[in-house]
Amino acid sequence: MSKSKAFLQKLADEPPPCVTIGDPELFFPDGWGDTHTFQIRQAKEVCHRCPLVSECLEFALETEDQHAILAGMTPAERTVFKNWANDPYINTPGLRPAA
Ligand code: SF4
Repeated sequence: MSKSKAFLQKLADEPPPCVTIGDPELFFPDGWGDTHTFQIRQAKEVCHRCPLVSECLEFALETEDQHAILAGMTPAERTVFKNWANDPYINTPGLRPAA
């Protein structure tokens, strides 16, 4: 079973906070401005108390989701994270200048 399938099965077996709060739209912020920002903050707060956040991040990165708040991050934030995590300059100690 792939990691994504295993994660989806886990969601079915142990519904996470994003499922149990009964407001799935919260994780798909729309529009702009203060309301948009507030909605993103609320969704992130739900994710921050989720026991599946690590697996959710793997799922989001694997599926390259571009729509939802997943693992407490917006799609843009996950792109920054992925680029950072894959940057050989950052992740190869010998390539970094000594501090
Ligand atoms: S981390 Fe993922 S599974 Fe957990 S509440 Fe957030 S979106 Fe849902």
